[in-house]
Formats: sequence, C-alpha cells, structure tokens
Amino acid sequence: MNPKDFQLNINSIFPSSLWTSGNQEIVYQDIKRYTYREFYDRVRRFANGLVNLGVKPGDKVAVLDWDTYHYLESYYAVPMIGAVLHTVNIRYPPEIIFYTMNHAGDKFVIIRDEFLPMVEKAATLFDFVKGWIVYSDTDEEIKTTLNPYYNYEHIVESSEPIDPPDIDEKTIATLFYTSGTTGLPKGVTFSHRKLILHAQGLAMSISYSPLNITEKDVFLGLVPMFHVHSWGVPYLAIMTGKKYVLPGRYDVKKILEMIKNEHVTFSHMVPSILYMILTYHEIEQYAKYLNGWKVIIGGAALPKGLAKMAKSFGITTVGAYGMSETCPLLTAALFTDDMQNLPEEEKFDYMISTGKPAKLVNLRIVDSNYKDVPWDNKTIGEIIVRAPWLTDEYYKDPEKTEELWKDGWLHTGDLAVVDSGGYIHIVDREKDAVKSGGEFIPSLILENIISEIPEVGEVAVIGRPDPKWGERPIAFITLKSKTTKEKIMDELFKFVDTGRIQKWWIPDDIIFIDSMPKTSTGKIDKKDLRTKL
Ligand code: ADP
Repeated sequence: MNPKDFQLNINSIFPSSLWTSGNQEIVYQDIKRYTYREFYDRVRRFANGLVNLGVKPGDKVAVLDWDTYHYLESYYAVPMIGAVLHTVNIRYPPEIIFYTMNHAGDKFVIIRDEFLPMVEKAATLFDFVKGWIVYSDTDEEIKTTLNPYYNYEHIVESSEPIDPPDIDEKTIATLFYTSGTTGLPKGVTFSHRKLILHAQGLAMSISYSPLNITEKDVFLGLVPMFHVHSWGVPYLAIMTGKKYVLPGRYDVKKILEMIKNEHVTFSHMVPSILYMILTYHEIEQYAKYLNGWKVIIGGAALPKGLAKMAKSFGITTVGAYGMSETCPLLTAALFTDDMQNLPEEEKFDYMISTGKPAKLVNLRIVDSNYKDVPWDNKTIGEIIVRAPWLTDEYYKDPEKTEELWKDGWLHTGDLAVVDSGGYIHIVDREKDAVKSGGEFIPSLILENIISEIPEVGEVAVIGRPDPKWGERPIAFITLKSKTTKEKIMDELFKFVDTGRIQKWWIPDDIIFIDSMPKTSTGKIDKKDLRTKL
C-alpha cells in the first residue's frame, strides 16, 4: 500500500489512541479491568493466533456472546487480519442462528461456553465450521464435544503480537443480519472505511448534541454488540479514548451497580431498556447515581412519557435514528444555536425528536416522485439517504439489494414529516403504518401522546382491519398504576381538545397487557401484537 494513500482501516484507530489514552481502562463487569495498551497487546496476539489457525483474508469469523471484553477484542482482531467479523444475534431462535451462520458460511466461530450446549446439540449441521474458539468467565476447564476446539486464552498466551497488515479500507470488516421482523433475516456488510467514517460521524454528532461529551465521560453501552456493532460505540469509545464499561448479559441490578461503581456518565440504548431500568423495583436506591447520566435513545422513537420519567431522575435523553442497513447513524437531535434560546418545553420536544441529519448524511424526505416534502410538519414522505457508511448490499441477495438501493438512494421505508425548524419527526414505518379511510394515522405520534398519561407504562398502536375504514388503530398498553379504558379515553379526548391529535386518530379499542412482547433487539414487537388482535 502506498503510505501516502492512508487507509481508513480498523488498525488506524490505535496509534493516536494509544498515545493519548494508553492507560485508559476497559472494564468487564467485576471480572476484568485492563488498559488500552494491554487490550491492544491481547488483540494483536489473538489476531496472530487466528492467522496461525488458518484464518484467511475474507473468511467469515462468527462470534456468539453477550457484551464482553473477549467480544471487544474480536471486534478488532478479526478485521485486523482482513477477515470478516460476523456478529451473530444470539437472541434469535436456534434454527435462525443456524440459518444466518450457514448463509454467512462462517469458517471459524468464537463462542462463550454458555452457548456450547445449543451448538453441540446440532453439531453435525455445522460442517462448514473449521474451528471453534471457546472462552469462559471462569478458570475452570472448558469441556466440549465440538471439534476442532481451541481455547481462546491459550491462543492469546501462546501467540506473538502480530504486526498488523495495512488492510485496504474497502475490505469488508463486518457482517450481521437484520432482525427479520418480516421474513428471514438479511445480511448487511460494512467495510473498514465505512466503520471508521461512521465512528467519526458519531463522535461529531455527539459533540454537537446537548450531551456535551468530553474525555471525562465513562461509556457503558446497552445496545448489544451483536446488533449493528452496538451502534459503532466499540469503535467510537476506543477512538476517542473513553473509559469503556462492558456489561455482559443485561441484568438491571448489575447495570445499576456498574453505573454506581464505575461512575458511568454516558450510555445508549433502545427505549424499552431505559424503561426496564427506571421501573426496576430497587431504583430509588440508585437514583442519586443516575443524576447527570446522558443517554442516547434510538432504534425506536423515544416516547415523551419515558423522557419525562428520565428527566425526573436527572437523566438527559437525546433521540437518534438509524437502521441496520445504515451502520446505523442517520440523524441525532443535534444542538444548534437556534435551539438554545427556545422555551424549555419546546427544547425538550426537539431533544426527543428524530432530530436532524448527522454530518455527511445526505437525507431526503420525498413523495413517490422523489419530490422533497415541504417543511410544514404535515406532509408525509419516505426517508431516503446517501452517506459514507451505508451497506452496499444485502449479502448474497441481489434482488433485495436492488430494492433497497432503488434509483441510487437507500430507501429506509420510514415515513416522516419535517417541521419549519428542519427537525424530522418519524410518524411511522411503511410496513406498520395505520391507514384509515385512505389517510395515515401516525402511530408514533399517537404512542408518544399516550405515553404521557401518567398510568401508562409502554404503549404500541397498530392497525386492525376494518370493513368500513380499511384499518382502525388499536392501542396495546401496559400499566404502571391502575386505571381504566374509560379514563384513558377521557385523557385522549383532552388531547383532541388541545389540538395535539385529531378525533379520528383515537383508537377504537385499548387492550391492556401484562408485558409488551419484544423483538430480539429489545424493541416492541408489533408483529407479535398483531397476532393478539
Ligand atoms: P428492526 O427492523 O428489527 O427494528 P433495525 O434496528 O434495523 O431493526 O430498525 C431500524 C428501524 O427502527 C428504522 O427503520 C425505524 O423504523 C426504527 N427507528 C430507529 N430509530 C428510530 C427513531 N429514533 N424514531 C423512530 N423510529 C426509529
């Protein structure tokens, strides 16, 4: 590689990061604590070990784990040698896990001992795998019937640190599969260049947001590392020299303990995780450690009721939007000067909105003729995008790729309006949209408003087929405290009186449920709710 032609590859993160933050810490629960320098040393040893095992450039290397330091090491070691990191969604049912690994053609698998029994049961199906690399949180000897089996720690101990090759930035670094809310999951791939530029875009967006992130902030990510690279935070954190806390399998008590003990100040998650934390039965005991916590919420709209609950603990929440296909960052509730002078309530509404395009994201909201919608807060269009970090393809699926990239724009399938200040508000997903009497009822706006009713916990609005109107909205609700359908309806009519919703948006029925069904990535599962109609 010509040294003047600097390659934006994963290894390019380290020289400056080690120089400025070599003693910075990476912490995994109360099990492991080490510096960036020690981390990099282990990454290079593991990378060399993988080469010695026979991992070749382009080979797919899968990981099955929760959010651990072994996973973080693999995030760097696998792409560092030109191989492709496949982050397997371990919340899929086993047959879908097998489907994605088979589809990817994973040659090697890095796996936490906890997942061995699931794989061992179906070992003969995995004949495409050439080696299983296993680790455990304990020092006990690992026993497995998988063959050939290698011990992760032995590989690290017995290998010399690799001198990282200068990988071409266009080389594919990662592969993972979408949640498969409709049909089988689809694979998306990202090059080194895309990951580096995405981490930079994310860093810029955070610094322009009301979160005001500095080098003193301590990160604890709560988006699983198997899901869209935990939104790129494992690369962002190391690039920007932050103390990085890895929570393992999500357990609210443990998360709260880590927030307390490690002085966590910054996290990111989907709304339902924040809801789970704030409604934890011992939350009052931890309340003082949450004061000042800065949280990016994305993956689904941030309901105002939840943002207000967070505020009552002194937590600042900021909305962001993206999807698996987009690495994921597309928008964030960016902090512009005009926002500073707004009344508090209005500022709050903008901070929980879909926000504005992140730097370098070319985002449009268009009608079916590609005409941009006016900034009138009411004309609905589809969000289409171009940006430096979008997936080029659905892996091995040219037909779906063509649909995704129709006419040279990545089609998100998300419907949105823009207000006069340029803030985007997603009103629905095309496939979830409720169409009543030929008009859209924006289910996300309706959910947002219902979430403000104090007794409401979580809410989802979906369309029920209706002979007269085509579809009518139905609200599924979990309760924080007792109330009745009639009382909720009364509240909704008050929102009609104040002009926040239209009368015909009011759901035909309210169905109380004990808990919301969630997808493998922790979002409310509307597909499942439809089966309950
Ligand atoms: P899944 O399809 O399982 O939800 P993704 O994580 O790729 O998997 O989901 C991306 C989708 O989530 C987006 O297309 C959009 O519909 C929704 N989404 C993400 N962020 C937001 C947000 N801030 N507001 C509203 N919807 C969002």
